[in-house]
Amino acid sequence: MPASDTTPKVAVPPDHLMGVFARAPLAFERGEGVRLYTEAGEAYLDCLAGIAVNALGHNHPTLVGALNAQGGKLWHVSNIFRIPGQEDLAKKLCEVSFADVCFMTNSGTEAVECALKTARKYHAANGAPERIDVIGFEGSFHGRSYAAVNASGNRSYMDGFGPQLPGYVHLPFGDHDALKAAAASPTAAAIIVEPVQGEGGARSLPTQCLRGLRQLCDEHGLLLIYDEIQCGLGRTGKLFAHEWAEHAEPDIMCLAKALGGGFPLGACIATAEAAKGMTPGAHGSTYGGNPLAMAVGQASLSELVKPELLQHVRDVAGYFTQQLEGLKTRFPDVIADIRGKGLLIGVKLIPKNRDFMEMARDQHLLVAGGGDNCIRLLPPLVITQDEAREAIARLEATCEAARAAMKTAEAVDA
Ligand code: PLP
Repeated sequence: MPASDTTPKVAVPPDHLMGVFARAPLAFERGEGVRLYTEAGEAYLDCLAGIAVNALGHNHPTLVGALNAQGGKLWHVSNIFRIPGQEDLAKKLCEVSFADVCFMTNSGTEAVECALKTARKYHAANGAPERIDVIGFEGSFHGRSYAAVNASGNRSYMDGFGPQLPGYVHLPFGDHDALKAAAASPTAAAIIVEPVQGEGGARSLPTQCLRGLRQLCDEHGLLLIYDEIQCGLGRTGKLFAHEWAEHAEPDIMCLAKALGGGFPLGACIATAEAAKGMTPGAHGSTYGGNPLAMAVGQASLSELVKPELLQHVRDVAGYFTQQLEGLKTRFPDVIADIRGKGLLIGVKLIPKNRDFMEMARDQHLLVAGGGDNCIRLLPPLVITQDEAREAIARLEATCEAARAAMKTAEAVDA
């Protein structure tokens, strides 16, 4: 619509980017392991790893080698043809999980999109197309597409984007009666849950809850979808977060982030039964699973499945938790709670998390934000004990700075 003369002009942002991110005023030129370096050569300890993406750290030689080797051979052919690397990665993902089949995507959101479509199509294939309801939980995050924001139900991601889509039910955690009623509905199709919530503030679902969800799905013929985009692939110290619970395997699972280690790659994996409606033409992607992504994905997965890496995650996570509990005792005015699982650690704060993140940056420590006024520590899984010690020392200095800032603010108010 042409603007009239009286309409005030909207200022063009100097970076020419849509203003959807509140970015930190910091840019990096290169990375090595758990360190990021600015153009001026200043080093930062990276305890956010591109939000749980750079699981093997920056510039990992295996990933760089795989990308460079494939880069000189073949980038893209389209899914019209067989892609041997895609078949290899799918086979490997199925070997290490409950799944029989896989759909490759370019992002986590697309893996979620595929999971939701797979679940509805399953019921349609069973002659029950009315079963469309996807049950999701408060505090969850499944991505930013229309389906993904409707599945998580977070109002702040939905406001202004038109009406809520039909077929999504949102429940608070722990309301068992509401959950049973929703699952028993004749239109119920699936439950989607993160075994450890990431964006929602590193909230780990007790193992008995995962088992309970599995039983409820079996009772009512629902499909169980796990979103392990953030908590999966080694982050909790097991290859998949749901493996901490027995008898709680899903029918469908979404993966991304660590799978590509920084190369855009995701996957929706499922049992053959759950995916029986996904026949030719039901779904697709131009780029998903292209040779370049597959080369990196195979290299990344071959590292992530190593038992010694998973043991390392459990060891370093134990150290972090113990040290963070110590900080909480020494700084009860700054730290309210420590939560999460493995190296998906949430620190619930008393001062504002955004302010704390800025103070951490002053200490050259990078941490992620999270819901419920948390910061998340999501370091590369390869972080060493010495680097973990350094992270704790920088966090301690940040707590001191936060305490001093609160005291100054109190003195000004008095
Ligand atoms: N699901 C979870 C649990 C996530 O943490 C994210 C991203 O943070 C997504 C889905 C969306 O993934 P992507 O940003 O790759 O689309």
